[in-house]
Amino acid sequence: MSRRVSTGLLAASLVLALSGCGWFEFEEREAWRSEAEVACFARQEVRPTAYMSQRPRLDGPGTCGIDKPFEITALLDGQVRLKQEATLGCPVTAATERWLEEIVQPAALLYLGAPVVELDSGSYACRTRNNRRGARLSEHAFGNAVDVMSFTLADGRRISVSSGWRGAPEEQGFLREAFVGACGPFTTVLGPGSDSQHEDHFHLDLARHDARGERRYCRPQIEFDSRLDDPQPLIGASLPGVSRAYAPSAAVPAAMAPVVSPAPLPGLPSLPPLGARSTGAIGAPLVPPAPVGGVY
Ligand SMILES: [Zn+2]
Repeated sequence: MSRRVSTGLLAASLVLALSGCGWFEFEEREAWRSEAEVACFARQEVRPTAYMSQRPRLDGPGTCGIDKPFEITALLDGQVRLKQEATLGCPVTAATERWLEEIVQPAALLYLGAPVVELDSGSYACRTRNNRRGARLSEHAFGNAVDVMSFTLADGRRISVSSGWRGAPEEQGFLREAFVGACGPFTTVLGPGSDSQHEDHFHLDLARHDARGERRYCRPQIEFDSRLDDPQPLIGASLPGVSRAYAPSAAVPAAMAPVVSPAPLPGLPSLPPLGARSTGAIGAPLVPPAPVGGVY
């Protein structure tokens, strides 16, 4: 009897001790996370380079962690440096490289006349969304999310989300291409206008919003005509489409604006058109997996 009581007391005090030092001890890491990592490796979507090395498994505290993390100093085989060394899982590393190669670099050349050579970005962090006690864990806690604060070009210019989103027309055009185009490789894309926490960076992750991981949650929904398929370079031109659509005085409140997605990009033939995914939110509003708001 006394033995049973003391065992119960021990269990109770253990629970108290655990809940006192954190708030994520009792969540379970979903099975799809490991499966996605395994599939990413099987397809060799990310290959170690001089800028990307595999590190030992990260496990905990709580359910935080990455089975096979990469430590990354540059992406696209050194083309795009990371201002801060990143720790990321295979799937989001592959998605980020695809986004850089197919969207960001073509957009940088088109609107700004120079490629991106550095990102100011954030990666792994064992924390809840919005750093709120009791909130769900952020995708950052699984190395499954990237924050991008700014892009540095080969000519030294720095295009930041905080000032460029409502900045010069070419900066607005570039950032909107990058933002709208991210809603293909990534399943969650948040930027200025989505909530007060994302005025100065893009949050990009691979959270699963449905069982198959196909549903996208991209906010704000913005009106934007992609120019990536246009044959004529915009450099030196007056950027009529950009200035007309994005002059700050004429700006449509982002949260109210409908999505106009870019035409399908070359190189994405195996995927449904970007428009189909983005505009899906118009006909059938996507219920977010959790209250939206805060630093994801
Ligand atoms: Zn984030």
